[in-house]
This record gives sequence, structure tokens and C-alpha cells, in this order.
Amino acid sequence: MYDNDNIFAKVLKEEIPCKKVAEGNYFLSFYDINPKANTHVLVIPTGPYLNLHDFAQNASQAEQIGFWQGVDETLETLKLKENGYRLIMNTGINGRQEVQHLHIHILGGNDIGPMVVKR
Ligand code: AMP
Repeated sequence: MYDNDNIFAKVLKEEIPCKKVAEGNYFLSFYDINPKANTHVLVIPTGPYLNLHDFAQNASQAEQIGFWQGVDETLETLKLKENGYRLIMNTGINGRQEVQHLHIHILGGNDIGPMVVKR
């Protein structure tokens, strides 16, 4: 169940400030408050979606296209395409998703090392 008062819903309602990178009808991107790389930015859809599955099943085609174009536009704005980056979408309990509004992490700006997970 989507909570209309989650942190990113409040960012979208401008009740909480953010350091914006880019925005469009269907997405907003902003710097992560606790960066894990030289460049750490989050991209979120403007609609109320919990995770990828909710989004893929319930968002309109315009919302889905607009979100992914927003990820691309954000990568372009950040000038990360040439040297690369990592995208992460933490989902659910095992994925340690903290904020219950779909978001994709963009990490880059330096060599962020190998992908490390606990077994
Ligand atoms: P996760 O849900 O685990 O994928 O991660 C949520 C991310 O949101 C974390 O990296 C936090 O540092 C980040 N975060 C939490 N609150 C804010 C905020 N107000 N502005 C920007 N980033 C935030």
C-alpha cells in the first residue's frame, strides 16, 4: 500500500527540499542526501508507485516512457555516459528498500568498484 506521506512523496509535494538535477512531467531527479559515490542521484516517477512491479503493472505507457527518458536525461545532464555509472533499484525487505516510493540510484563520477553483496 502506497503511503502518500513517504519522504519522496513529500519531496514531490515540495514539503521537503531537494537538490534537483532534472525534472519532467513524469520524473524528478535529485542528489541523494547521503552520497555513496562522487555522484549519487535518485530518479523517481512523479506518480505514486511503490516499486518496479507496481510501476510496470499500473503506470500508463506515458508515465513509463517518461520515467526512463528521465533517467537518460539525468545521465546526460550529469555527463556520466562517457565513463559509465551504476544503476541500482533496491526493492523490498531483502533489497533493503528504505523509501517506499520507486527510485533508481545513479552512482558514478568515479570508479565505484566491484558490486558487493552479502551472501
Ligand atoms: P533505498 O530505499 O534503500 O534504495 O534508499 C533510499 C535513499 O534515499 C538513501 O540512499 C537515502 O540516503 C536517500 N534519501 C533519504 N531521504 C532523502 C532526502 N530527503 N533527499 C535525498 N535523498 C534522501
